Amino acid sequence: MRDEIFTILSRQGKSRHGVLHLPHGDVETPVFMPVATKGTVKTIPGWDLEKLGVSMIISNSLHLYFRPGLDIISLFGGIHEFMGFRKPVFTDSGGFQILKEHFLIGVRDEGIYFRSPSDGVKVLLTPGMSASIQDSLGSDIAMALDYCIPYGKSKRSVERAVKLTTKWAREFKEKRKGISFGIIQGGVYQDLREISSSQITSMDFEGYAIGGLSIGEPREIMYKVLEDSIPLLPEEKPRYFMGLGSPLDIVRGVMMGIDIFDSVFPTRNARHGIAFTSEGAIDIRKSKYRDQIIPLDRDCDCHACRYYTRAYIHHLMKENELLGLYLLSLHNIRFMMKFMDSLRDSIDKNRIEDFYQETKEIFSKKNV
Ligand SMILES: [Zn+2]
Repeated sequence: MRDEIFTILSRQGKSRHGVLHLPHGDVETPVFMPVATKGTVKTIPGWDLEKLGVSMIISNSLHLYFRPGLDIISLFGGIHEFMGFRKPVFTDSGGFQILKEHFLIGVRDEGIYFRSPSDGVKVLLTPGMSASIQDSLGSDIAMALDYCIPYGKSKRSVERAVKLTTKWAREFKEKRKGISFGIIQGGVYQDLREISSSQITSMDFEGYAIGGLSIGEPREIMYKVLEDSIPLLPEEKPRYFMGLGSPLDIVRGVMMGIDIFDSVFPTRNARHGIAFTSEGAIDIRKSKYRDQIIPLDRDCDCHACRYYTRAYIHHLMKENELLGLYLLSLHNIRFMMKFMDSLRDSIDKNRIEDFYQETKEIFSKKNV
């Protein structure tokens, strides 16, 4: 395995424009990954994702392990062929599913007990097993198994989560064959974040994720912890902030030094009728759009904007037609990809502060 998977091309302040070199291709950063938890970015086929400019997606190895199961995915030689997306795939370990109570039975020193959603069978997910699952899926980047503790727990509980996250990271790293990222925990406690960062970064993962944030804590606390956490990570390795994805949050994260983002933001919003446009977010279900014979966004080159009007998509959403969900999802993903292109360009041109202000102006408009 190669040591250097990340090249930084240009910087402005703490922001970096770089490239990740992965088995299924290069990925320019800062990158936004659409979420394909169960092996699909909801409503969008792989060929569309590639055409929309999506360079990497994230899926969830635990969900795929339960359903359809590794026996099925191995018939395809891995997740890329299974879901028809041949660019890099990132996979999460299942640590985050600790927060999903219908899944979780309990956390022990040796791993996490989950209940399979398909047959109710109790499964112990160990770090070694998580590494093997992600190897079998053929993930370009695998996340180490971590203990993602809910927000608001006692400091003692967070301390235990940090301790187990370190133990599991070590066991995971020993077993995983490909590229892997370590995850920093520590909740909102700076001293615990420092301990976790020094222990996890000593294991020399190819990149690092700041975990356990964006899980219900107040926004400003999240930003404070994030800002204090980034200097604890090595400068030359990629940094991933899990679960943050609104355009403004992304620019703010990039200005703090984050390289990789993922979120259900564009597709979940689409399913609620929200389209992102160069004039801000619009709720296409509102009656004012029923007779607008213009595209969702005049500046967009996606198929939804090239072939259809606001009036037609308004009609589809009012009728709960599946095509409406597809067109809005397609458009929002394309919007995010173009947004990331402009963001990387703003770093090259030393104008990320202006880009931040422009984004703020567009997305604070109340024109939905
Ligand atoms: Zn569009």
